[in-house]
Amino acid sequence: MTTEHAFPTGTILGYPRIGRRRELKKAVEAFWAGTTTADELEATAANLRADIRSRLAGLGLGRTDSAIPESFSFYDQVLDTLCLVGAVPPRFHHLIGEDGSLDLAGYFTLARGDGENSPLEMTKWFDTNYHYMVPEIGPDTVFSLAGDRIVREFEEAAAAGFLTRPVLVGPVTFLLLSKPTDSAPAGFSPLDRLNDLLPIYAGVLRRLADAGAEWVQLDEPGAVSESLGVPRSQVLGALSRATETLGRLAVRPSLFVAAPYGSLDDALPVLAAAPIEAIGLDLVRGSRPEATAGLAQKTLVAGVIDGHNVWRGDLAAAFATAAGLSGHAAHVAVSTSTSLLHVPHDVTDEPELAAELADWLAFADQKIGQVVTLARGLTEGSDAIQHELAAARTALAARTAAPGVADPAVRARTAALAPADFNRSAYPVRVAAQDAALGLPELPTTTIGSFPQTADIRRARAQHHRGELSAVDYQERMRAEIKRVIDLQEQLGLDVLVHGEPERNDMVQYFAENLDGFATTVNGWVQSYGSRCTRPSILWGDVSRPAPITVGWSTYAQSLTKKPVKGMLTGPVTILAWSFVRDDQPLSDTARQVALALRDEIADLETAGITLVQVDEPALRELLPLKKRDQEAYLEWSVGAFKLATAGVADATQIHTHLCYSEFGVVIDAIRNLDADVTSIEAARSRMEVVADLGASGFSHGIGPGVYDIHSPRVPDTDEVVGLLERALATIPARQLWVNPDCGLKTRGYDETIASLANIVEATQLVRARV
Ligand code: GLN
Ligand code: ZN
Repeated sequence: MTTEHAFPTGTILGYPRIGRRRELKKAVEAFWAGTTTADELEATAANLRADIRSRLAGLGLGRTDSAIPESFSFYDQVLDTLCLVGAVPPRFHHLIGEDGSLDLAGYFTLARGDGENSPLEMTKWFDTNYHYMVPEIGPDTVFSLAGDRIVREFEEAAAAGFLTRPVLVGPVTFLLLSKPTDSAPAGFSPLDRLNDLLPIYAGVLRRLADAGAEWVQLDEPGAVSESLGVPRSQVLGALSRATETLGRLAVRPSLFVAAPYGSLDDALPVLAAAPIEAIGLDLVRGSRPEATAGLAQKTLVAGVIDGHNVWRGDLAAAFATAAGLSGHAAHVAVSTSTSLLHVPHDVTDEPELAAELADWLAFADQKIGQVVTLARGLTEGSDAIQHELAAARTALAARTAAPGVADPAVRARTAALAPADFNRSAYPVRVAAQDAALGLPELPTTTIGSFPQTADIRRARAQHHRGELSAVDYQERMRAEIKRVIDLQEQLGLDVLVHGEPERNDMVQYFAENLDGFATTVNGWVQSYGSRCTRPSILWGDVSRPAPITVGWSTYAQSLTKKPVKGMLTGPVTILAWSFVRDDQPLSDTARQVALALRDEIADLETAGITLVQVDEPALRELLPLKKRDQEAYLEWSVGAFKLATAGVADATQIHTHLCYSEFGVVIDAIRNLDADVTSIEAARSRMEVVADLGASGFSHGIGPGVYDIHSPRVPDTDEVVGLLERALATIPARQLWVNPDCGLKTRGYDETIASLANIVEATQLVRARV
């Protein structure tokens, strides 16, 4: 058994790794572009890790007591785990070097694909806007201890005088997040391979112990979620087996099993009974645990500081929650509820935020300060932190009383809503009106909205922001871009055009900047996937629309072409999901406010002659609660918000929606209930699997399963697109099928975009000739 090490009284579950100025993003992209070498990238990453350790120590986390988590990743922690345990899919085996591991280029190839092999699928990490790479595990997957990065990073820290805490995705969560390989027999679940995977984890733990690690953190949010498609009893059984097996190892560090994103519920007794030393609870989402057998011997790590949102919050309440656990466990420590991966670095790095608002907020570095304060309160008593608790309370009171937090006009409007505001005419009536009005060919081709955001566009926006480019000149530049994109789509022969969204920095931030109730940040970047970052806005007050937002751009685009141009809006649920939302009223209330603002925008678009409007809801699935008991209520209000936004239009106006994923499962009814005339979804990577599900579910509205995976630079050839369309047509009638990419094109380059769209149009023509 392991020797006893005390768990640090204050810690965090993980820290942003992209860098305060997105240094990692830039370094990784330079490596991809071939302008730097792997060694240079490694050196940049090592510097970043060193800076992070020093910063965390400077903020008050212990240097030598395992308080600092070692949570770096070049791309994604699930991908790292996959490489660590050697579960590289066979199509990438040629990338494995003589030492059995992948080099950096090979690692990135799994995430991004190469000309021949499609990359791993990517999907949302629990109910966050972070995306992980989906491992593919079959009965024949061979596990081996194939990587030593985790050991090297620990040693790197040790050499610099730090005793850090390595973090890895736990074995149960790793398998729960995996998908079966294509060749796996029906009924196979990756979790069936747990017994084969555990020896690899045992090997990693041994090596970390040998290197001197005192604590290792195993992240097991899979034990929280009820939405991973495996019966609960099997999840609990696996958790028990994994913790028993790893806990009984003769040589290992002390084990800290962390369970972010919600309460453990019936998994808590399992962990409490297991031979592990510490358990991390998410006490922001989850409730305070009951007294549980076995906990009295353990450290409870109270996740009372919200790792997933940016509010400074009620620090005294957080302290009371943590302190209240002391009767339950041998030792209580304070932590964040989740990794700080989901929040920006530093509020003090936001020169443009109103000082008052800034005082209500805590980003990663401020949250570490809060953790350190609470830890001091636990050791020295609450008197020692009275000053900090009082300051937080004052800020919270100021927030509650601030003008704009409650807007009487907005509240009166939401209070007056009636059921009729949420419903359109019956679908057949709308189809007839739309067919007559639009006259589209069979299998209409379109795109999802954005075209590549070139360096020119970004530069113009930055110059405009800095006041170096006048509003008129900026508008001219954007109009020129819109014209270019319209001309291109005409040349390519697409049927329903888009204006290309050049004026949008981001599909949510753009609306946030134009609605009341939101603030935006300058440096508040958060990793979304790989090198992709977003800058979530902060929704702090009641939401309303001071003036039309998109109407000018859309009508300009429509004036350039006889083909219909789709209006393009971001839906209420997605605006909430990709912003930091207020925590002082139910999300459903906030959603209705946003929906009403969008409803006004759609009415203005319609009046201006726009005949199709797409309202993107890629985040509908993402916000789905992990607990089954909470899902129905969520689906009710989220679908309701979409309908409230869209139900004001005439029958002949076609409402589109777009969802960025292909795993519908539980939300399939919700998608039907959205009642959009056309729904585009992601489907290319999963080779249209979802279409069969939709067909089987009796979905009768228009559907556009993506035929072009825009997450990778790869250009699909015409045959491939024909094949995908034929697969779709096997289960979906031609009158329902639309042809489009998986998602917007803003992250792609023009060459690959043009080549791909040309192939899509050509493939559609071939298939049309056959149906
Ligand atoms: N209309 C948006 C775009 O094309 C949709 C993006 C998304 O779904 N994430 O960029
Ligand atoms: Zn999308």
